[in-house]
Amino acid sequence: LRPKIGGAGEVSYNADSVSDRILIIGGVAAGLSAASAARRASASAQIVVLERGPVSSYGACGLPAFLSGRVRRLDDLVVYTPEFFRERRHIEVLTGHEALEVLGGRRRVRTRSAKGEKLFDYDRLVICTGAVGRAGIAGLETAGVFEANTWTGAQALDAALRGARGRLHAGVIGGGYIGLEVADALLSRGLEVSIFERGPTILNGVDGDISALLEEAVVERGARLFKSTEVREIAADEAGHLRGVETTAGTADLDLVVMCAGLKPDSGLAAAAGAAVGDTGAIAVDDRQQTSLAGIFAAGDCAETRHVVTGKPTWIALGTAANKQGRVAGHNAAGAPATRFIGVLGTLAVRIFGRDAGRTGLSSAEAEAAGYRVAGELVEAATQPGYMGQERVTIKIIYRLDDLRLVGCQLLGREGAVAGRLNVAATAITGGMTLPEIEQLDLAYSPALAPLYEPLLIAAHNALRRR
Ligand SMILES: Cc1cc2nc3c(=O)[nH]c(=O)nc-3n(C[C@H](O)[C@H](O)[C@H](O)COP(=O)(O)OP(=O)(O)OC[C@H]3O[C@@H](n4cnc5c(N)ncnc54)[C@H](O)[C@@H]3O)c2cc1C
Repeated sequence: LRPKIGGAGEVSYNADSVSDRILIIGGVAAGLSAASAARRASASAQIVVLERGPVSSYGACGLPAFLSGRVRRLDDLVVYTPEFFRERRHIEVLTGHEALEVLGGRRRVRTRSAKGEKLFDYDRLVICTGAVGRAGIAGLETAGVFEANTWTGAQALDAALRGARGRLHAGVIGGGYIGLEVADALLSRGLEVSIFERGPTILNGVDGDISALLEEAVVERGARLFKSTEVREIAADEAGHLRGVETTAGTADLDLVVMCAGLKPDSGLAAAAGAAVGDTGAIAVDDRQQTSLAGIFAAGDCAETRHVVTGKPTWIALGTAANKQGRVAGHNAAGAPATRFIGVLGTLAVRIFGRDAGRTGLSSAEAEAAGYRVAGELVEAATQPGYMGQERVTIKIIYRLDDLRLVGCQLLGREGAVAGRLNVAATAITGGMTLPEIEQLDLAYSPALAPLYEPLLIAAHNALRRR
């Protein structure tokens, strides 16, 4: 087989010489990364992607920016169109095609589209079905209740906001990063916003002290925050119109509700086909993204992965991991020499309520639950020399008491002060660095850009001095 390389680096192949049929379920981050990696590994494979939604290849992470109005059109979130994939990568992306059943023994997938049911044969299958909202609240079907984590959900919410008159009061259910991003977006559209969070802190994966500082920013920006408050039911009047929510702390009258109460892995299709599912509820995979079923791989939010610190299976739904896992799955599905995925730290940075916040690795509670004896060091430090400004950032490091390895880091500061510092910490955790090593890291210093002692180095130094 000799693939023809076109003028612009395009690879064309002769359909008669197809050696492998690679079928991918799910056409967003993991699925399309898998498809592209499979194409890079094999010029001859026939690659088909099934996506049940109306759109493929879009940046779900940009949905809050669309809701806030910063991204003007939802279509701007589309990264590549099916035409791009067909013409440039010879990958067939079929939107509006839902995979109903994996017939593993016969290497077939039963699908449904507007044209009816159809069977797709495969030699290797990559399942990238993502995550779905955790339901469990009565009344979710009430008009005026929206989800903000999907294309169609964000579209419907935006349309409702555009058509509304007067100042609406929105209830955001869930104080995780998506709920906080959505709440911030709704504030910037002029809505009154109440956030209901069942736990005692906001922004999952951060310690109580960092959460408390972020809570101040939420309130400063004008949102109402109800912590340790579980929404039990969406309340509607007799005509079925939304009235508000019933919570463990009482009733709240609302004009609309946005569900951001967490996600769960969409592992049902794989499980029904007999694939092993881990304790996390996500599809169990090895480090090649191979499931327990021969010829079937899984990647992204539907799959488990290994935590870099604990080495144990974990489920952390983030786009950074989904893309990389998809790439590994696609490469291996194409039969190329095995590549492996090293795992995740759950590194996440968000811009909310006029601040940047971030976390990587384990929180103190997560570290203790994993069996480590840890301590934390919280420091508020300058991000420039004093003569250049008074900006400061709060950093908290979490480290093991036995070997002084860094296992987690959280930051909160002004816009632009967090992501770079967080990424240094993530690199140090991945490299298994200890506080004495971190304390002496050779990081950049320049009055306009960074202080002489980076906050991470100060935190490591202070923690060591305290011993
Ligand atoms: C509002 C928001 C903000 C986010 N912000 C960030 C961020 O800042 N940083 C970050 O790292 N991550 C972020 N994420 C998470 C990130 O978007 C996801 O982790 C990533 O999209 C997961 O990719 P995936 O391909 O595994 O799943 P998805 O993107 O969920 O794609 C799965 C696709 O599979 C399709 N599908 C499911 N079942 C079937 C079936 N049976 N047949 C056919 N198709 C099917 C679905 O329709 C869906 O389109 C954010 C997510 C949201 C919702």
